[in-house]
Amino acid sequence: MSEKPPNYEPLVDRLRAAGYKITPPRKAVIEVIEQEGEHLNPAEILERAQGIYPQTGRATVYRTLELLTAIGVVRPIYVGENGPTYIRAEGGHHHLVCSQCGAIFDFDQCVADDMQLELEHRFGFVIKSHLLEFYGICAECQARVKMRT
Ligand SMILES: [Zn+2]
Ligand SMILES: [Zn+2]
Ligand SMILES: [Zn+2]
Repeated sequence: MSEKPPNYEPLVDRLRAAGYKITPPRKAVIEVIEQEGEHLNPAEILERAQGIYPQTGRATVYRTLELLTAIGVVRPIYVGENGPTYIRAEGGHHHLVCSQCGAIFDFDQCVADDMQLELEHRFGFVIKSHLLEFYGICAECQARVKMRT
C-alpha cells in the first residue's frame, strides 16, 4: 500500500514563504534535514551542518528546528534516552520500538491510507500525516533474556 506523497517543495522556500530569513547557517541546517534523512538529534544535525557551513552554531540548529516544527515540516520524537530526534512531519511514518533497549526500526508498508480516507470522511478532517508505533521487545533483547534463563 503506497503512502500519499509528502510535500517535497524545498524547505528553504517554505520557510521563506512563512516569513523567515534564510541565513547561510540556517540553510546548512535545512540541507542536512533534507538530504541526510531522519532520526538525527540536534547534536548530529549540528555536526553535519558544520560540515556544510563551519560557522553554524548550536543556537541556530535549535532555532531552525523550532521554526521547522512550527510550520509543520518536522517533528521531534522522544524514544529512548537520547533526547529528541527529528523526523519529517508529513506523510506516514512507522516504527517498531523496543521498550527494553530503545531501538527503533522503521518500516514502510502500511495500511493506514484506507483508514485515513474513512477518518477524513467520518470526522470531516483533512489528515496530513500519521505516526504509527508498535511497542514491544526486539529480537536481540529476546535472545538476551533467553540466554539468562
Ligand atoms: Zn503509513
Ligand atoms: Zn531491544
Ligand atoms: Zn522513524
